[in-house]
Amino acid sequence: MKKLLALTAIAAAAVGVHAQDFPTKPISIVVPFSAGGPTDRVARDLAEALRKPLGGVSIVIDNVPGAGSSIGAAKVARANPDGYTLLLNHIGMSTVPTLVRNVPFKVESDFEYLGIVNDVPMTLIAKPSMPANNYKELTAWIAANKGKINLGNAGVGSASHLCGLLFQSATKTEMTPVPYKGTAPAITDLIGGQIDLLCDQTTNTSPQIEGKKVKAYAVTTSKRLTTPLLKDLPTLQESGLKDFQVTIWHGLYAPKGTPAAVTKKLNDALKVALKDPDFIKKQEGLGAVVTSDSRVEPAEHKKFVAAEIAKWSPIIKAAGVYAD
Ligand code: ASP
Repeated sequence: MKKLLALTAIAAAAVGVHAQDFPTKPISIVVPFSAGGPTDRVARDLAEALRKPLGGVSIVIDNVPGAGSSIGAAKVARANPDGYTLLLNHIGMSTVPTLVRNVPFKVESDFEYLGIVNDVPMTLIAKPSMPANNYKELTAWIAANKGKINLGNAGVGSASHLCGLLFQSATKTEMTPVPYKGTAPAITDLIGGQIDLLCDQTTNTSPQIEGKKVKAYAVTTSKRLTTPLLKDLPTLQESGLKDFQVTIWHGLYAPKGTPAAVTKKLNDALKVALKDPDFIKKQEGLGAVVTSDSRVEPAEHKKFVAAEIAKWSPIIKAAGVYAD
């Protein structure tokens, strides 16, 4: 027994020593959606901003898409808790538990919370050949095309899925969901006219709106945006959907059991990254707001996610927007 305790102490000390040296090899950030989409964009910009405060270590993005973020999140939940495998995920951390029947991880207990990164509005966009030129005309088009409308999403529990479900519920229309592994491939199909509508983060839609490759009708926030490109888009609320409000946030996570010295280093680095002028500029240009409040503290991040679960669960249930 004594020998076992001694060995345990040696092992713990060894972890401690490694934790002090962290990081000594590349860090992988799992993005639970396909490359080139909005979550991926945030992760790649963040990886760049994190590199310097983490001593110049290389940070690679590992796209593990599928099941509205569940597959990638589960991969990190089961990863070695050494700080070298992290997760960058969005609001799915709080909607997946309600929308998905068998979630392959526990949001509350499988992760160390490292801080909220940003908040991102969504936009309601359509294929370029959509005849409607404003939201009012779009509602007329939707009414005239009942039963024939294809609405893209990034899988059950994803941000686009949630937004699309709430939109159908608020407008009392049923559309055909077309799932993708992320909204990067969804927007490609929207541009090609294979799907009609998509609700997606401004970090993905801004370049397409700017290039006039898609038509944009409204933002999902309660106030209009200030970004020059998007400032003229009405909110869905002012367009008649009274309580419509969805803002997507992203957070950084490590597997549960990651040594405290490592999570502290990661959180310290995140705080530096969130003040990086280049990161802020890039994100703001895409309509995102980089976190500058207490949600960058792990305990506050965890409280925020719990509050989001409590907020979304009754809304999802009341709207009857469950999915199998
Ligand atoms: N925007 C996607 C979503 O709807 C995720 C992504 O592709 O990053 O959740």
